[in-house]
Amino acid sequence: MKLIFLGPPGAGKGTLAAKASPLFNAPHISTGNIFREAIAAGSPLGNKVKSIIDAGKLVDDATTIELIRERLAQNDVKNAYILDGFPRTIAQADALAGFSKVDTVINFDVPDNIVIERLSGRLVCRKCGFNWHKNFNPPKDGKTCDKCGGEIYTREDDKSEAVKKRLEVYREQTAPLIEYYRAKGLLVDIEAGSQVDITLENLKKALSCK
Ligand code: AMP
Repeated sequence: MKLIFLGPPGAGKGTLAAKASPLFNAPHISTGNIFREAIAAGSPLGNKVKSIIDAGKLVDDATTIELIRERLAQNDVKNAYILDGFPRTIAQADALAGFSKVDTVINFDVPDNIVIERLSGRLVCRKCGFNWHKNFNPPKDGKTCDKCGGEIYTREDDKSEAVKKRLEVYREQTAPLIEYYRAKGLLVDIEAGSQVDITLENLKKALSCK
């Protein structure tokens, strides 16, 4: 199954994709994670995108499309994948349609107040990428990941100015994809304001009916 996970920042797309990936035997492809790994490695791509990402803006379409075009040419995603964070613009969606046929687009619907609450408390492990939360799911000592012992940090783009910018960018550039994919008959709406395991159950039900 070839899936796109759509939704605002803080909808839980990354967490849900990580949980759904083994269930559907579909590799999880997150453009945000690919960019963050490139930044951590200090690669030319990482150097190019760091200040854009830290400010909560979008990386340019040409760079992002090329990244996904190359990733989707690999063997492990011939029959299935979960795209998390791509496409984020109509131009990216048009480009994707030219090199891959998506089966279903999930739109994770979350009210703004929950998005802000989730993002402002999010903590990320530098080593394994797991998402913790200051209030809802804190690591035991607040500083190290209980899963792998990695260092916990707050993403630069989860700080308040960048969060505001990301929500604005989402509304202007990414939200139009909801109607874009609805018009193609590919969209499934899922309420994602409750706990992640409830959303995952709703996702499984929705996809088993497809
Ligand atoms: P995410 O982890 O999905 O929230 O992505 C983090 C950041 O990476 C975004 O705020 C953008 O700066 C950049 N990014 C991720 N995916 C895309 C994309 N499809 N197009 C442009 N920029 C992206």
